[in-house]
Amino acid sequence: MNISDNRAYPQPVVDRDNRTYLEGWKNGSLMLQQCAGCHAMIFYPRPMCPHCWSDSLSWIKASGRGRVVSYSMIHRPNHPSFNDETPIALAEIVLEEGPTLLARVLSQDVKSGMAVELANDPESVARYPLPIFRPRLSE
Ligand SMILES: [Zn+2]
Repeated sequence: MNISDNRAYPQPVVDRDNRTYLEGWKNGSLMLQQCAGCHAMIFYPRPMCPHCWSDSLSWIKASGRGRVVSYSMIHRPNHPSFNDETPIALAEIVLEEGPTLLARVLSQDVKSGMAVELANDPESVARYPLPIFRPRLSE
């Protein structure tokens, strides 16, 4: 497979809540929402704050740094476009800004507690439809 050809992967459906998040990734950024009412950082994208119900949310560019909380090695993916890439590390990552997300880590040696960073090099951004992470060398 051509490394920049992501058409084989299932693609996210863009809606008004996730548009900024998905467009941010196309530019190599990890975008999070922040609530103007209680200042909470929010992930996943949604129309109102899950803490105080304010609909006054803005977008900020996250650092892209976080740590693996836990992970699974996927040997039997649920979509054939991933079959040639197994095992795939799917991790719960807690971001420096506070929210957690599920994302792939480009490593066969993932550990709980491992420092990770956004893998936002142009090839990865072009290839993967959602933000993806790699081990971070400096703690
Ligand atoms: Zn709030």
